[in-house]
Amino acid sequence: MRTPGARRGGPEVLVILDGASEPLGAGALGAGPLGSEPLGSEPTSLERAATPALDALCAAGTLTRVRTVAPWLEAGSEHAIPALLGWVPPAPVDRGAIEAAARGIEVPAGCRAWRVDVRVALDGARADAGAVRESVGEVLARADAGAVREARASADAGTDADAGIGAVREVCGGRGASPRFAVHALGGHRLLVVGSAPLPTLPALAGLTLHAWPQGVVPPRLLGADTVVIAAPGAAAGIARLMGARVVTPPGATGQPGSDLAAKARAAIDAIADGAARVVVHVGAPDEAAHELDAAGKVIAIEAADRDLIAPLVATVRAAGGTLRICPDHGCDPADGRHVAAPVPCLTWSAQGAPSSAQRAPDFAQGAPLSAQRAPDCAQGTPRSAHVAPRLTERAVAGLPVVELAQRERVAA
Ligand SMILES: [Zn+2]
Repeated sequence: MRTPGARRGGPEVLVILDGASEPLGAGALGAGPLGSEPLGSEPTSLERAATPALDALCAAGTLTRVRTVAPWLEAGSEHAIPALLGWVPPAPVDRGAIEAAARGIEVPAGCRAWRVDVRVALDGARADAGAVRESVGEVLARADAGAVREARASADAGTDADAGIGAVREVCGGRGASPRFAVHALGGHRLLVVGSAPLPTLPALAGLTLHAWPQGVVPPRLLGADTVVIAAPGAAAGIARLMGARVVTPPGATGQPGSDLAAKARAAIDAIADGAARVVVHVGAPDEAAHELDAAGKVIAIEAADRDLIAPLVATVRAAGGTLRICPDHGCDPADGRHVAAPVPCLTWSAQGAPSSAQRAPDFAQGAPLSAQRAPDCAQGTPRSAHVAPRLTERAVAGLPVVELAQRERVAA
């Protein structure tokens, strides 16, 4: 175990609040940058949530407005999280490769993985466990051949989505032949089909739509084992693994509302104690609650992250002389369950004081734009009057210039 303090600058810690931000009302976006916030606009979830730990960091830190989703990409974690880790995808990212990596599902040479979503045709809602189970059978039937392997997650009851593949059941229909396709129920409405291209025609099921995510680019190995990513077995874990980071999934971390965030905090503190240069903690619940149109649940999820994760992390980061950054990866509107690509508010707090943060914080993944020009102080970023403390909100950064994320240099394997 190394001494964190021995490393120059201390660890860089990033907390990703998945989907936490939201669009401001049209009036707010059209308003002037400072002091002209329109009255009556609806507060966002970040504004509604009580976050004392975040607020205290904000008072001593720096707020910026960061573009996490490149203009040529759709809003989503598969595009925003790589950018936060130091790789801005040049084209849509391969969601199937991410899901396979997230769960340790082998993709044999010459094969690929497709993520397939099962939704209710009528309203696009996520299908329930029974429908997903039926879809698995139908995809396998369509994939044909005597040799088909079915691997179904224990999580397919639908109550434990993203909890991992658990007790995998395999059904081999062939005699000695290699399976052509494997269909994994990943939990919730998600399937993963692994096999050689092309993907078998997806079956038409009464009242359901099966949508395969298109093939895309696979994140490169830019990171080393000195980057530790703490996440449930979802997109963040898959991206981190493909990029070469070490992934830690504590028991009880589900990526869903009710996930054990205290366990994630302990894992982060352990990683810092073990000398990790970078520690990233992913919190999936705000996004999941927003997809479920659960506005109250989204606020609760943000408050839980503040209480159970951010608060316990602060003392450790301070003792290690490190930097703590907190931001959403992208927005997700609980009014319609859709992702939002708009730049997100980002807090940077340095244990070594605000002046150095402008020089050191960008090193995590942000490049020239932030390091070249001194980031504005929180007090400058807030559109409210001076006696109202700034917070990590969309409104607080609405008038700030947009910081672009930069590419991280490739590290030796
Ligand atoms: Zn989402």
